[in-house]
Amino acid sequence: MIVRTLKLKLTKKQEIQLNQWLWNLTSIYNWGIKKIEFNAKDNIYFSPKTFQNLLANHGKKLDIPSHTIQGTLSQVYNAWQRCFKKLAKKPKLKGQRNKLNSIPFPDPLKQPKDNKISVPGIGKIRLHKQEIPNANIKCGRILKKASGWYLCLWLDTDNKFKVKETNKTIGIDPGFSTLLTLSDGTKIENPRELRKGAKRLAQAQRGNKKKLVAKLQEKQTNRRNDRNHKISRWLVENYQTIYYSDDNFKAMAKHFGKSVIEAKLGDLINKTSYKSKVCGRSFKPINSKFTTMTCSNCWSLTGPTGLSGLAVRSWTCSVCGTHHDRDINSAKVVLKTGLGTSHEEAALRRRQESPAFRHGEVQIKIFNYVYI
Ligand SMILES: [Zn+2]
Repeated sequence: MIVRTLKLKLTKKQEIQLNQWLWNLTSIYNWGIKKIEFNAKDNIYFSPKTFQNLLANHGKKLDIPSHTIQGTLSQVYNAWQRCFKKLAKKPKLKGQRNKLNSIPFPDPLKQPKDNKISVPGIGKIRLHKQEIPNANIKCGRILKKASGWYLCLWLDTDNKFKVKETNKTIGIDPGFSTLLTLSDGTKIENPRELRKGAKRLAQAQRGNKKKLVAKLQEKQTNRRNDRNHKISRWLVENYQTIYYSDDNFKAMAKHFGKSVIEAKLGDLINKTSYKSKVCGRSFKPINSKFTTMTCSNCWSLTGPTGLSGLAVRSWTCSVCGTHHDRDINSAKVVLKTGLGTSHEEAALRRRQESPAFRHGEVQIKIFNYVYI
């Protein structure tokens, strides 16, 4: 399944209609949020189907397709489910500050023809010209953004692309000062437009220009999305096995705030993950504990510690004397760990190689560091 977003060319009438729909769907959304909240207090819970159909007879009154109302209610239902399972906070009511900006169409749509697409309840809508894969459209969603109206389409295809025939393996360390560092020493930085955009956005925010801020934020999101798609595709195209250090991005975002959220590393990991699946590559997480502390040459824990030593960009191992770039070293550790060179094995090998061991003077001691 892939998603394509198309820009719409609405007529005045259609725009008024959709705005009216959003207004009514906002009330429905808020009604649903309260309904579940109050009923949960009395220990009454709904199945997804019964909840979806609570407003089954309201479609005609509001002049909105009944399946669109169902779609909004199942959005509410899912939001609460995530909260009940402690995956998310309590869903907020929609309003002026937290606007509802999407209209679901849960049924299959027909492929657009002559840059027009037919949408239930609205009729034909004109589109800006854009190629989409010739596949079944499972469902759609109209979005209102700062830059205009869009239609998201979920297409029933897996978007497989050609990859190089290779057996190459690589370790990746995601970070904030450098976006990604690979174990072969390559560093992938943020593109210049993204950095420039961040400056302009900050200016607009200081000037309190709300509309401009919304537009610039949308642009930044698009750029980040584009960057993540390109990087993930490049990785999957060029490497058969990719190990990445599995940092807890949510915890890091709490600790460091904006810079982590801006880097959107979690999204990059997700994109790489599904692309590898589709193209038959393997993409595996490695526990990130000790990756910065461990020397990738002799495997002793001589490096800077995770959070407190973040300012240390390079260091020298006090045991073997190798000079390390912090990020490249972590990426190498990730790769070696992925390849199965665990701490125990390394320690054992080092001792076996030493002359003292051969003469039986050293006792083998296995440390209990577990990496995977
Ligand atoms: Zn060392």
